[in-house]
Amino acid sequence: MEREVTRRGVIELGMGAALAIPAAGAMADAAQAQQKSPGSVGYAVVGLGKLSIGQILPALKRTKNAHLAALVSGSPEKAKRLAAEYGLPETAIYSYDTFDSIAKDPNIQVVYIVLPNSMHADFTVRAFKAGKHVLCEKPMAVTLAECERMIAAGKAANRQLMIAYRCQYEPVNVTAMQIMRKGTLGTPRLVSAVMGKQTDLSDPSDVWRLDMAMSGGGALADMGIYGINATRYLLLEEPVEVRGWARTDRNDPRFKTVDDLIAWQMRFPSGAIGEGSSCFSQPGTMSWQAIGSDRRMVADPGCFYGGNSLRIVGGKNDPQPQVKEMDQFGNEMNWFADVVRGKSPNVSPGEEGLQDMRIIHAIQQSVANGGASVKIAGGYRRAYDPATTVGIRTSV
Ligand code: NAD
Repeated sequence: MEREVTRRGVIELGMGAALAIPAAGAMADAAQAQQKSPGSVGYAVVGLGKLSIGQILPALKRTKNAHLAALVSGSPEKAKRLAAEYGLPETAIYSYDTFDSIAKDPNIQVVYIVLPNSMHADFTVRAFKAGKHVLCEKPMAVTLAECERMIAAGKAANRQLMIAYRCQYEPVNVTAMQIMRKGTLGTPRLVSAVMGKQTDLSDPSDVWRLDMAMSGGGALADMGIYGINATRYLLLEEPVEVRGWARTDRNDPRFKTVDDLIAWQMRFPSGAIGEGSSCFSQPGTMSWQAIGSDRRMVADPGCFYGGNSLRIVGGKNDPQPQVKEMDQFGNEMNWFADVVRGKSPNVSPGEEGLQDMRIIHAIQQSVANGGASVKIAGGYRRAYDPATTVGIRTSV
């Protein structure tokens, strides 16, 4: 993996210059096909909705170590159109019913599951039964039992399971983790995260997000998870206790089964506090700030697909982090390609997805009990710190 510090202190995140995106708006310009490395890993993308069409398929063109090998869809017309667009033969198209026959397709090494959350567990288990590795979108699943079933199936098949926490492969967030580890902010006191968007029942992509059975928790499971995950990777520790409160207008047709606004607090063993909110009736927001005894660090936006920014506030003449934007989806898929080839460690395995689900469920339990404290069990410890593993160098 290439690692480079430029003269201006601009950082590069692995994968080489072909993945570098100079600015958010220039993403489309960078969409030219990338020369694939020998042994490039074939991905089957399951579910051709907004994320797959808008981000994943275009990013797979730009990845050096991974390429699109198959499409799995419930819509033959859509799959045929996308196969033609991406230069795949029709033999590389599978339906949800024929999915299991991917076992006989040697072109597929990884199955990338980009379906509604309630479908993640079954397709993960089926992919492992077919002998493939699995990259699964967040949130990992809907129930803790499903998460455990997915992890067990991966172990039984001796295959890798990675949860697609793109921010753990995104330069602003990895740089921020490094700044936290260096102690630039002083003693960490508080991480505060705000995640939300406006939902619309006329958008099929929001319909299942607003359905408790399919999403596992509305805004909290869909977007709050970024704030929970960021708080944990910024502090590099796990919460021992949480509280949550909800504010939901049940007359709003969008919120018949899920809560709208959920705010939470998390207590960490070091004494740091995490707080945050997720909401499905606000303008699009994915921001966080970390406050230490000496300085604070603001990422606003912090978790968008592009255009994230990072600044340090509070010290005199602090050098500001100069972060070069990269294709985080491409980085993530390249990273997992190297995980399955035994070249990189699995930084965000199933256990990492399960930990967020434990916290989400504890917050939901607290909400149901008027904000009562709920302890987090499990004893989870992150095996690899993205700050030192994923490979960014920064001047700050
Ligand atoms: P989407 O609704 O746009 O796409 C879902 C796809 O699943 C569609 O093609 C739909 O036809 C298909 N599908 C199959 N069975 C379905 C059913 N019973 N009901 C509804 N759809 C069904 O959703 P999306 O925004 O692409 O999200 C897919 C997954 O990706 C979710 O797990 C979501 O949380 C995750 N996601 C992650 C990010 C990220 O930044 N990492 C961003 C968006 C979504």
